[in-house]
Amino acid sequence: MEESKAIVLFSGGQDSTTCLAWALERFEYVETIGFDYGQRHRIELDIRPEVLTAIRQSFPSWDKKLGEDRVIDVTVLGQISDTALTRDVEIAMLQNGLPNTFVPGRNLLFMIFAAAVAYRRGARHIVTGVCETDYSGYPDCRDDTMKAMQLALNLGMDHRFVVHTPLMWIDKAETWRMADVLGGKVLVNLILDKTHTCYNGNRTEQHVWGWGCGNCPSCELRANGYRQFSCELAA
Ligand code: ZN
Repeated sequence: MEESKAIVLFSGGQDSTTCLAWALERFEYVETIGFDYGQRHRIELDIRPEVLTAIRQSFPSWDKKLGEDRVIDVTVLGQISDTALTRDVEIAMLQNGLPNTFVPGRNLLFMIFAAAVAYRRGARHIVTGVCETDYSGYPDCRDDTMKAMQLALNLGMDHRFVVHTPLMWIDKAETWRMADVLGGKVLVNLILDKTHTCYNGNRTEQHVWGWGCGNCPSCELRANGYRQFSCELAA
């Protein structure tokens, strides 16, 4: 049974919603985990249950496999970090070439908590939407980081977890395409209407590519990817 159980790191954004669909297609039983890290915009946390409800309602075969959702309190991360995601400051590039939206240790910490929950819940698989392809060079999203993390978790917990990163080598247009393959127009529309990825927490403007300010790096990626995806559909 452990072989067919997965824990998905689920933030309520486009990427993790696509990863959740990917896991629901692949495994017999899937639970979700989210994190309250003191993020400046609570909209992400508010949106999660709505996305899950929409998935349950739109895909009865996935509903049967979708188990418990939990939100883990890691607000201590917000207390010790000074970044554009946890403080009210402008998004900017730092001298070291990283954007100030980088929260040091965030994904590493998330993986440790996800593995601790997977251990307790008897799940072998951990699924995360990290991606090396068109991101801002976050070092904790790299393939090597995740491979090292899998090794550290397996050694440190004396267990055999498998970390899955279905989006690692694909760009945003391909992420939309993956959603289309997994759940067709219904899933693509659900992601457009329900998910949230904007760094500025803007949920008042709806564009063809979804909700968001339209100007932050995350909105730009999402909009460009969707444009490319919809052009291919039209061609
Ligand atoms: Zn935005």
